[in-house]
Amino acid sequence: MQSQRTLKLNPYKPGEQPNDRPYIKLNANENPYPPPSEVAGAVTSLLAENPSAMALYPDPDSARLCEAIAGLLNATGGVLCRTAVGKDGLCSPAEQDAVPFSVTPDMIFVGNGSDEVLSLVFYAFFDGDRPVIQPEHTYSFYPVYAGYYGIPLEKIPLRRDYSVDSEAMARAASRADSGMVFANPNAPTGTGMSRSEVRRMLENAPKNRVHVVDEAYADFGGESCIPLLAEFPNLVVVRTFSKSLSFAGMRLGYAVAGPELISVLHGVKDSFNHFPVDALAQVAGAAACACPSYYAEKARVVAAGRDDFFAFLSRRGWDVVPSSANFLFAAKDGVSGEAAYRQIKSQGILVRHFPAPGIERFIRISVGTPRQMDALKDVFERSRGLL
Ligand code: PMP
Repeated sequence: MQSQRTLKLNPYKPGEQPNDRPYIKLNANENPYPPPSEVAGAVTSLLAENPSAMALYPDPDSARLCEAIAGLLNATGGVLCRTAVGKDGLCSPAEQDAVPFSVTPDMIFVGNGSDEVLSLVFYAFFDGDRPVIQPEHTYSFYPVYAGYYGIPLEKIPLRRDYSVDSEAMARAASRADSGMVFANPNAPTGTGMSRSEVRRMLENAPKNRVHVVDEAYADFGGESCIPLLAEFPNLVVVRTFSKSLSFAGMRLGYAVAGPELISVLHGVKDSFNHFPVDALAQVAGAAACACPSYYAEKARVVAAGRDDFFAFLSRRGWDVVPSSANFLFAAKDGVSGEAAYRQIKSQGILVRHFPAPGIERFIRISVGTPRQMDALKDVFERSRGLL
């Protein structure tokens, strides 16, 4: 009954969401803090004051939301945890994050979560005639999109320190005359590449191919590649509201690129789903973008929690990969990743274990509130000998 192509699908498996008991959820890199009250306010006033917004189709291109996202990026440089907040509440990027041009709304394309945006990006910019180059261990949805669209993949091993091997990636892209896709900071490892390293990588990769950097976690301390858009018209930066903007339940993601590439994405969207972002998500998203100082503070708290837990794990003899994201990737000699995950789950906390060969020793821990991290520390203390 089903089509032949569905038989070849290999669907993505997200972090589990069991409901057999309440858990502290540190397994999907969600933000432990809710959005600011302005977001709920925007949604409730839309429903109260203009209920026909629900009856009518939304703006298919989310124009006001794109304007708001451009404003957010200009105010933060794309790295919330370093954003400077003045006494007047106005935000400006840290010096190192300043974007040397103004991000304009025609450089933004929004979708129903960055998963959808990434899927459309794969469709728009990669073909079946040459492999896309990606790190061996990265966001495990990339191979799913590649399989879905019949795009071959070439996986480049990480360096021994689990960082992305940018030189080998660019070499492989040149050899195959093809595009690259990578996350920066990478997932599930958390390692960040500096902008100058990405620049070198792009300089050494084909200029006639599109390269995609997924910045889902950049707001927690990475270096955004948005400033590189001035130098590389073949670069697409994909970002999400799900992590730093506390929107995982609302579903909003976006791509930032030159207007020409953005218009290709519009064509792909309009061949698939004309209205991927509903009216409520559009107003909620715009309201969120108007609160950079709230989010900057939360991103700083999360980054501080990450660094504190990094120190805690290191003191206990765990090998922890340096992280620029809102999670830590850690392993300990003599402890299997699977066993660690099970022990922590048995104590009511969910973390994530990836069975992929090469990283099976590790667990990935999303950074929660200080209270949640204290609860996790207690689990480690109580599980001496096991963790
Ligand atoms: N990119 C990376 C690297 C991720 O880890 C995730 C979340 N799992 C996403 C993209 C997708 O996020 P969303 O669809 O919620 O925007």
